[in-house]
Amino acid sequence: MKTLADELDVFTIRGDLFEKLDSGVVRCVACAHRCKINPGRRGVCQVRFNAGGELRVPWGYVAALQADPIEKKPFSHFLPGATALTFGMLGCDFHCGYCQNWLTSQVLRDPASNVALNLVRQISPQEVVKAARRVQAEVVVSSYNEPLITSEWAVAVFKEAKTAGLKCAFVSNGNATPEALQYLRPYLTAYKVDLKSMQAKNYRSLGGVLQNVLGTIQTAHQLGLWVEVVTLLVPGFNDSLEELFELARFITSVSPEIPWHVTAFHKDYKMTAPGNTPPETLVRAADIGREAGLHYVYAGNLPGRVEEYEDTRCPHCNKVLVRRRGYVLREYRITANGACPSCGSLIAGIWPENPNSPKINTDRFPLRVI
Ligand code: SF4
Repeated sequence: MKTLADELDVFTIRGDLFEKLDSGVVRCVACAHRCKINPGRRGVCQVRFNAGGELRVPWGYVAALQADPIEKKPFSHFLPGATALTFGMLGCDFHCGYCQNWLTSQVLRDPASNVALNLVRQISPQEVVKAARRVQAEVVVSSYNEPLITSEWAVAVFKEAKTAGLKCAFVSNGNATPEALQYLRPYLTAYKVDLKSMQAKNYRSLGGVLQNVLGTIQTAHQLGLWVEVVTLLVPGFNDSLEELFELARFITSVSPEIPWHVTAFHKDYKMTAPGNTPPETLVRAADIGREAGLHYVYAGNLPGRVEEYEDTRCPHCNKVLVRRRGYVLREYRITANGACPSCGSLIAGIWPENPNSPKINTDRFPLRVI
């Protein structure tokens, strides 16, 4: 009888991100776990495996394909108002107890996720880009599961997308290696990293290592990717004043121009004990971000309840440049050359060439494509 792994293994090819060691052993370098995998065995993510001394990696399918407002990623300084055609596969290299995408991310790791196999749809990179055109997307994003573990597929899609004039982005847990970032760099414009905590023990409980994620934020920024950082604030887990200051100070040390999104937790998957994050916690965290020197801080997931922290303000003259409510743009004032129209200061980010192109006061909802 076929196992779930057998069915999923059909959708694989030989990977790029690995090295051969002695006796048929391979080392995968797609994520910072750097799994050493014996013949016939699997990496921590379970979806990359050693077959006859070669690393096989996921290929040729999506488990989700959706046209999302780019603000949902969240990106606030990367083409506001754009549609982001977003694809996801299966599997993850972390096992966060509060994962909101656990059904697809924990496949082969948690039997409760096995039904996600029904979501698999065979597709080519060209068909993904065709779908992007159909929904008038300007950006193609790898997200929903951890994109690093499916980097080869992402690059195949991104090559096509780039040729079609689209920009590409990752929404990732940041557990990258320098090799993976170099591999992705020619195709990626933007990289959103989840910085989940500043405590090593918290990262251990999620299946990661804090220093690896901090290193990814630094390297991605040095490589010239447009980086935004998000922290889901889980009451009692990472929302102490001390930790919020540490988070904000770290991001500021990389660059005060990196936008920091603090977002609200709601009970999910295995983490049902903490209460949902109240808006006051988000506002306090955003205040701390500003105090630590960050120029752009956003509070997410609770539209209309987080004071001015959905808007972009000029860090020099404090004028509102982009006014938002959830995924709806209420006002857009950044000039074609990416500057504040009031004081002329350049605003860090990647902005629409035509400042009249973002649709104002238009409802935007995620739309399933497959
Ligand atoms: S992607 Fe990460 S978890 Fe998966 S095999 Fe490679 S190193 Fe291991």
